[in-house]
Amino acid sequence: EGINIQDIAKVFHRDATEIIKKLMMLGVMANQNQALSKDVIELIAMEYGVEPIEKVEVDKSDLELYFEEEIPEEAKKIRPPVVTIMGHVDHGKTTLLDQLRHTSVTADEAGGITQHIGAYQVEVDGNTVTFLDTPGHEAFTTMRARGADVTDIAIIVVAADDGVMPQTVEAINHAKAADVPIIIAVNKIDKPTANPDRVKQELTEYGIIPEDWGGENIFVEISAKMNLNLDELLEMILLVAEVQELKADPNRMAIGSVIEARLDKSQGATATLLVKEGTLKVGDPIVVGNTYGRVRTMTNDKNRRIKTAGPATPVEITGLNDAPQAGDLFVVFEDEKSARAAGEERAMRAQEAQRNSTKKVTLDNLFESLQEGELKSVNVIIKADVQGSVEALAASLQKIEVEGVKVNIVHKAVGAINESDVTLANASGAIVIGFNVRPTVQARQLADQEEVDIRSYRVIYNVIEEIETAMKGMLDPEF
Ligand code: GDP
Repeated sequence: EGINIQDIAKVFHRDATEIIKKLMMLGVMANQNQALSKDVIELIAMEYGVEPIEKVEVDKSDLELYFEEEIPEEAKKIRPPVVTIMGHVDHGKTTLLDQLRHTSVTADEAGGITQHIGAYQVEVDGNTVTFLDTPGHEAFTTMRARGADVTDIAIIVVAADDGVMPQTVEAINHAKAADVPIIIAVNKIDKPTANPDRVKQELTEYGIIPEDWGGENIFVEISAKMNLNLDELLEMILLVAEVQELKADPNRMAIGSVIEARLDKSQGATATLLVKEGTLKVGDPIVVGNTYGRVRTMTNDKNRRIKTAGPATPVEITGLNDAPQAGDLFVVFEDEKSARAAGEERAMRAQEAQRNSTKKVTLDNLFESLQEGELKSVNVIIKADVQGSVEALAASLQKIEVEGVKVNIVHKAVGAINESDVTLANASGAIVIGFNVRPTVQARQLADQEEVDIRSYRVIYNVIEEIETAMKGMLDPEF
């Protein structure tokens, strides 16, 4: 195994003994058949005036690699946008998703049963829109943390009788962190107490400004319950999608993400996949997350068996060895053997990774990460007991600059540190700073599990000092 002197002799058209002599003069003793280390090979190459280039074996099990592939412009076709609905609890997310789903049921499907598979599609004037059926920014960010950036457009629902609430602000910041365009659906305008202008006014504070006020954000006033203006909302989605020029290549082996997955008693592992590029077909050998198989059946959101699924189409598949997780990536392979090999390799690595869990951004390793150039800015989430402290902390932190690196505030709000904060911190590599507030029990558990760094303080000066010290690499280790 490995490369020995005989191999090298052949490459350079030299006598093996000559190479052995050269190595001896360099202080390396080697015999003809002994495998050489990379360093020694480099040394010999340099002796012969050759730049050694490393032959990189493509790691087929590295699914992320398939997503980095450049797709030629001419192969790309317009694809449907993928939309996530977010907003504060009770502002009407579920009602909106249900109404939109019903508008999609055409006459010939009227009697047909729609199936909840985690995503569905709506036809609008010959165009298609894909909606993710799990509302909320936490599902959105959890997916993102797992590598799946599937959402193209975020709809943030704000009830006109209630206005901007804590989870509205969370949703805005989660969408902004993902760099996804936001459409505001001002809901419940049928209510006598509805005040859409107040919603607009309140949102300006978070940088969301309506077009008619000179801003960039689209607002649509709707009533999800009364089915008012939903067609206008759909049109706006198509408009934003058009500006984004969402395209994909339908003519290649499919890649994409897992929207939902479960183990079914009768069917075994089922997973809803959303195709990103290519066309998924029944019979395709596939690697999904850390599992693999062959696509046995495909069912769409209208509960129909289908044979192919193109870009931005959600389908529920069977035929996997095991259930993957929401947010996992999938890649179709050319044959079953390589799919199996890659799947098994991934399962093994996942186990290993769990053992030596991955490095997260913490105050203690901040300097190291900055030095290694892994971080361009220090992401933080600020939670405090009163608005004044939130603002004071944000202002002070934004002033910090250590060798060109600044603090970037991903989210700031009044209140206890909650699970949403931890999820967002995990997805955006942020440190959570609590000022006179504590994490909830669930947030603490999630932070422990995901190794998110939460720091609590009672004095603003201490926050500033500790972040600055950590950025300079002078933080005393914590015991
Ligand atoms: P979610 O928690 O954001 O998913 O909110 P839901 O969709 O469950 O809605 C919460 C409540 O608001 C329910 O009682 C809905 O019937 C009601 N609701 C939703 N949309 C509207 C609307 O446009 N007008 C009125 N009057 N009520 C609505």
